[in-house]
Amino acid sequence: MTEIKFYNTLTKKKETFKSIKKNKVGLYTCGLTVYNFAHIGNLRTYIFEDILRRTLMLNNYQVKHVQNITDVGHLTDDADQGEDKIEKIANQEKKTAWEIADFYTQAFKQDLKKLNILYPHIWCKATEHIKEQIAVIKKIEQNGFTYLTDDGLYFDTSKLKNYGRLSNQNKDELQAGKRVDIGLKKNHTDFALWKFSKTNEKRQMEWDSPWGKGFPGWHIECSAMATNYLGVPFDIHCGGIDHIPVHHNNEIAQTEAAEGKLMANYWLHCEFLLINDDKMSKSKNNFFTLQSIIEKNYSPLAFRYLTLNTHYRQKISFTWQSLDQAQNALLKLLNFLAPYQKNGKIIAEFKNKFILALNDDLNTPKSLAVMWELVKSNKPLADIAATIFYFDKVLGLNLEKILSKVKSQKIPTEIKTLLLKREKARQEKNWELADKLRLEILNKNYLVADTNTGQKISKNITVLDLL
Ligand code: AMP
Ligand code: ZN
Repeated sequence: MTEIKFYNTLTKKKETFKSIKKNKVGLYTCGLTVYNFAHIGNLRTYIFEDILRRTLMLNNYQVKHVQNITDVGHLTDDADQGEDKIEKIANQEKKTAWEIADFYTQAFKQDLKKLNILYPHIWCKATEHIKEQIAVIKKIEQNGFTYLTDDGLYFDTSKLKNYGRLSNQNKDELQAGKRVDIGLKKNHTDFALWKFSKTNEKRQMEWDSPWGKGFPGWHIECSAMATNYLGVPFDIHCGGIDHIPVHHNNEIAQTEAAEGKLMANYWLHCEFLLINDDKMSKSKNNFFTLQSIIEKNYSPLAFRYLTLNTHYRQKISFTWQSLDQAQNALLKLLNFLAPYQKNGKIIAEFKNKFILALNDDLNTPKSLAVMWELVKSNKPLADIAATIFYFDKVLGLNLEKILSKVKSQKIPTEIKTLLLKREKARQEKNWELADKLRLEILNKNYLVADTNTGQKISKNITVLDLL
């Protein structure tokens, strides 16, 4: 295998990947805040992380993948004020916070399945790791990085030598922060490790702690759970680029303050999916869910294909036209492969080109170009199919499964009847009727070919076969 290169946000360079343990990778991906459905922008990031994991697997790494579920502590202003996103929705919908979190967690898992995204080996919920979070906060406190205010225990970012290293924030910017209203915080970039429940309000999710009754800040769950399951440091940490300046800087700060070590060696971030030149986001209410694209007759796999057509460090401007093109490309590929015979051989030349593209910082557009070059080559179809099914271990378009499902379907009686009629027309040399019947069969999504051994029927694969 060739070496793998990733662009590391930490060093701002493309670097050769070296795992801490031979042939093993610890991977942590920030999970969803479960107060609403995921939107297709969120899902773009999870597809990128799936491509990363599958590329590592193709390179014979054994990956241990951990992902959190944020079910408490993420406040409406993304900093330390406002309401807890989950409790807010629970109050609006007259449900418990636990019901809200559980409902959207299940919906998220369904979305991942539909997109053929591999589940993490370990899902971890913030609410099930309160003890672990308190233990990390205690260490941070013992090491002198905290201060108390009326509303919680805060991390003092001025105490950490290289706070903000992911986004190159420096001490000057920290000082600049002092000019804006920072409430009870000492520095603009300080953040809550533990928030107190308000005395005049009864929260649904709250716990006792050495500092008072309350709940963990948003960032501590990732530091506590990632290091609990993967150790410190671990290999790769991912998320969307919006996590760089605050959430990931703070995860790094907490882990460094608690353990005196860098949290993870490689930090990979996915660019935004945009809509009308703006970031797709729940707070701007400019989002589409996976279900909403399915309702417009698009397959989740067409959306997966669409995202692969752009490098993960480039923005995607989502349009329905681009989704249309992606779906057409996917159907074209499936219909091209449909008549394949099994037991073809993987073509080494194309396999190598494909791996080179992916190992160069996950260049999925180039890997798709290699695939289309192979489709246009004059290699035997069985070998093309075997090679593309190998590619699909990473692309994850579920090609072989869709094709075998279509192949195993019985030809409907209605089509069989039309075929018999057409056979009779052919025997009678009634070509006009035979052509008319071929069209009628095509309108019912079946293709008929006249061969030496008679009529051959195959299904024209449509979006219905992908849903
Ligand atoms: P959240 O639930 O807000 O923590 O977001 C879940 C994941 O989606 C995070 O990794 C975010 O960085 C990512 N994300 C949010 N909005 C977008 C977007 N428009 N495009 C791509 N990724 C996004
Ligand atoms: Zn996180």
